[in-house]
Amino acid sequence: MRGRLHWLIFIGMLAGVLLGLILSRMGATPAQQRTIAVLDLFGQTLFIGALKMIVAPLIFFSILSAITSLASAGRIWNLGGKTLVYYLATTSVAVAIGLILVLTIRPGHTARRDEIRQHWQEQKVTLQQRYGEQEEKIAQAERQGALELLRRNLERVIMNPFASLAENQSLGIIFFAIVLGIAIVAVGPAAQPVVPVIGAINAAIMKLTGWIMAGSPFFILCLIASLVGSLGAGVFETLLWYVLTVLLGIAAHVAVLLGLCRVLGNCSPLRFLRGIRQAWMVAFATRSSAATLPVTIHCVQDNLEVSPTTAKFVLPLGATINMDGTALYEGVAVLFLIQLFGGMPGAEITLSPVLTMVIFLTAVLASIGAAAVPDAGLVTMVLVAQAVGLSVEYIPMIFAVDALLDMFRTSTNVLGDSVGSVIIDRWTRNRKQPSTREP
Ligand code: ASP
Repeated sequence: MRGRLHWLIFIGMLAGVLLGLILSRMGATPAQQRTIAVLDLFGQTLFIGALKMIVAPLIFFSILSAITSLASAGRIWNLGGKTLVYYLATTSVAVAIGLILVLTIRPGHTARRDEIRQHWQEQKVTLQQRYGEQEEKIAQAERQGALELLRRNLERVIMNPFASLAENQSLGIIFFAIVLGIAIVAVGPAAQPVVPVIGAINAAIMKLTGWIMAGSPFFILCLIASLVGSLGAGVFETLLWYVLTVLLGIAAHVAVLLGLCRVLGNCSPLRFLRGIRQAWMVAFATRSSAATLPVTIHCVQDNLEVSPTTAKFVLPLGATINMDGTALYEGVAVLFLIQLFGGMPGAEITLSPVLTMVIFLTAVLASIGAAAVPDAGLVTMVLVAQAVGLSVEYIPMIFAVDALLDMFRTSTNVLGDSVGSVIIDRWTRNRKQPSTREP
């Protein structure tokens, strides 16, 4: 069953697209709305709900177990330092790729640019009505300002651990797990009895993941069908080049990551892709790196033979702060909007190398700050827009295709974390002897 699961998930995805297309052709009838509500009950409420149920304890016990098994401050710094350097470097490469492509392809200079600019006010009202929820999230982010955002982020790191677990605040969970783990190591033999207990709880949570994943082909079918069914036709017309630019950027970045996997991780791209295909598909359908985390850990440990210590430390941290796909998208999206609306009120911006650098840096930061949940990248994009003086009232222009792009950026985020675990495992020499076993 386990060996066939990825095929069943793939079939579920295809069936989901098909059912979604049928639903979108039905138009917004009561029957279509009811079907979508039932699909959401299975996909969102049951499946994503179950994955979210285990993600907070998993992050906590994974990191705690990794830190306690490292057992020396030097090894903890070694692993932590290398992980951060790797993540920062690959995120920067992702943003650079996106910026080069958007400046070359110039998707904002579409043939319909003048028409869009002329009718923007009407379009904005319609888009805001249709995507009210995202609009509200963006308005909230805008009200906060940069300093307030920093203060709020710090509050999310240093906080009551029970509150962070209850609210799924990954940064707070990670921080507490790291300091508690260091304290357990510092206490020495008196604290040693808890170490195997932490490992055992971790193993039990991974067992739960396996059970949830057994139903994933059906749940993924529901998720995809509901999304495709509610997308609606015609949204891609004006945004086609923008979508293509993001997708091309993502494809180029994935090629870079696979190259790094080969050269620095000594793992062939084919073997790597086969090893993580299940996590990739779950990320694509759930649009949440956090919800995918249990599956990602399972894939790299069992299929790619990354050592448990590395996987349990590098992947939860990566799901929280390493978002290559999101970073790439944020840079492209803001430059696209400047190309499309530049010169209009609230977008009086002249592109210069300095401004491009500002977009580069803020896109890296915004991706680090983005939560590993659906639509998060769209919200933190406000930070990038504000840094260059682009009014957030232009962001609704890209709402319509955001869910689609979120699927690609989330799966790239997970791919980036997984490549990171393979490479860092090799760097820190925790890796077992390379095996010839295919996943
Ligand atoms: N959905 C993405 C993730 O979970 C974040 C984003 O919206 O870009 O990784």
